[in-house]
Amino acid sequence: METDKIQVFNKTMEPFIDELLPELEDIYKDIHRNPELSMQEFRTAKIAADYLVRYEFDVTEKIGITGVVGLMKNGEGPVVMLRADMDALPVTEATGLPYASTKIARDEEDTEVGVSHVCGHDMHVAWLMGAARLFSEHRDQWKGTLMVVFQPGEEVGRGAQGMIDDGLTDRFPRPDIILGQHVMVGETGTVGYRSGAILSAGNSLKVKLFGRGAHGSSPQTSIDPVIMAASTAMRLQTIVSREIAPIENAVLTIGALQAGTKENIIPDDATLKLNIRTFDDGVRDHILSAVKRICCAECAASNAPRDPEFTSLDSYPLTENDAIATAKVAEAFHAQFGERAYETQPASASEDFSIFGRNWKVPYVFWFVGGTDANTYLQAKKNNQLNSIPSNHSPKFAPVIHPTLKTGLQAMMTAAIAWLD
Ligand code: ZN
Ligand code: ZN
Repeated sequence: METDKIQVFNKTMEPFIDELLPELEDIYKDIHRNPELSMQEFRTAKIAADYLVRYEFDVTEKIGITGVVGLMKNGEGPVVMLRADMDALPVTEATGLPYASTKIARDEEDTEVGVSHVCGHDMHVAWLMGAARLFSEHRDQWKGTLMVVFQPGEEVGRGAQGMIDDGLTDRFPRPDIILGQHVMVGETGTVGYRSGAILSAGNSLKVKLFGRGAHGSSPQTSIDPVIMAASTAMRLQTIVSREIAPIENAVLTIGALQAGTKENIIPDDATLKLNIRTFDDGVRDHILSAVKRICCAECAASNAPRDPEFTSLDSYPLTENDAIATAKVAEAFHAQFGERAYETQPASASEDFSIFGRNWKVPYVFWFVGGTDANTYLQAKKNNQLNSIPSNHSPKFAPVIHPTLKTGLQAMMTAAIAWLD
């Protein structure tokens, strides 16, 4: 049955995978050295697109600015979509790696920033390019349609939606399954799957509170937005602790709180920036409405001249893996990886990957691939210091190339072949 099919396929492919690894390592290091900010992934997209053309995919470029889709129809059978995101972050890399990025770029506010692949999307691109090539060169091993998608702008939550808005779902066949993976802190060589919510929903918003400025010596003539902001910040922390059931998980972080410029001036207004992570749509909706309620009530308590202003900064849906599809992928992973495949805990990070499945109304499965050196990971685990390993978005995030590169490539191909005929 399935397990046999997976094992035979993987055994057949293993020598070809090993043979491809040096080339993929070069591709990975090149993309790592040349990171591009969200929605500016022109070079990376071109590398992926050219590679797909070379390996006989039907390639469409510039979907949602830099998105690339490669289609390969190989007889009758299911349509399987594999996705990788391509963008890097405005972070100056501090890994000390010989292939570290030294790139500087201009962000959307025209500010010069260091750029680096400290979320590992360079690894995702290399994995998907490798899988595309191997599936193309071994078309005798499968039947169906393979759709590989290189997506822009995951880090700003706009890339997947941008491709949808550019007609992705009308221009390409509807997949039967959508598969995606992320390199994370975890022992290299392992893959972590999970049915249901695997990544949180993420909502960021800016709240501007309005007071009335005055001389610091005459508070009676002011409506002090500093007090308003301080009180609001404290009260917002009661949402998770007092309004959400203990068995639910949620995070509400106030990552920025700004007001005033000088000690003897009471400013006109104050700004808070909030980041909310939830694992259930009902909990998310409750928190968002509680934030509005508390901000408005604190402003009223201060006699503010007007209601606060709310601006959404980004919004990521819940990544909620389909149960039946995940069981199929998990079975394939165990056939391939044995005990190196495990059921993982959900992570309070967020992704726009599910937007494809949500729009096409098809099941999707997303999983994690460990990228931490095995000794480092096991030692940290033993000493209860896993939090000290630099995680995604840290300037020191640095997945080890081996065997992470091979494991992710095998995971992608294993999950895909579980669906293809
Ligand atoms: Zn990221
Ligand atoms: Zn990421």
